[in-house]
Amino acid sequence: MTEALLALADHDESIVRTRHEVAHPASQADLDATVAELAAATAAMRALDEDRAPLTARAGELERDATSARDRASAIARRLDESTGAGRELEAMAHERDALVARGDQLDEELLGIYELLEPLDEQLEKLRATALDAAARRERAEASVNDERSSATARLDALAAARVALAGAIDAATLARYDAAAARTGGIGAARLVNGRCGGCRLAVPAAIVDQLAHAPEGTIVVCDECGRLLTR
Ligand SMILES: [Zn+2]
Repeated sequence: MTEALLALADHDESIVRTRHEVAHPASQADLDATVAELAAATAAMRALDEDRAPLTARAGELERDATSARDRASAIARRLDESTGAGRELEAMAHERDALVARGDQLDEELLGIYELLEPLDEQLEKLRATALDAAARRERAEASVNDERSSATARLDALAAARVALAGAIDAATLARYDAAAARTGGIGAARLVNGRCGGCRLAVPAAIVDQLAHAPEGTIVVCDECGRLLTR
């Protein structure tokens, strides 16, 4: 009887371990780490985008203004080419054309300054994008591993549950009820062997009187560990 009880306890230990594997697959830590990495990269990209936004908006304005100044300068240049003779009006047009060309150059210079500010931000963004892509790929693999591990552990748990029926059937109903109650209290394993005066379940020393009682009791005697409530056999 006590051998059957210990066999059931061993089996339940496997069930507890396997249930833990279902709840906490080994790759879960990898998955959590890659999810956190991806979130950090995404947050950094968003912050960088906020820094870039006013610069890219300003660059767009400068590009438009420079193009507009050059277009107007070209239009005036064409009219000048078509005009004949001299005069104040032509002089004023030439002056305006030169002013517009100078304005275009000035806008280009400011634009270069903006590009210089944007360059390191763009490089950072590129790096973050690569990091995010890499983290996303690793997250996908970790997710697949977690799912594989969980479904494999679930299949083993099902097999263990099926095999438990026969082991439990080898124990009389009253003892099994005591075992199950102890197992429910102690996280799934309801019996242990007494080893060197200690409970094999909670590892705590069992009072000498109980050790003595068990040592002299007939084969198959069961006592209860005061500390953890597991059924103890010798
Ligand atoms: Zn104990």
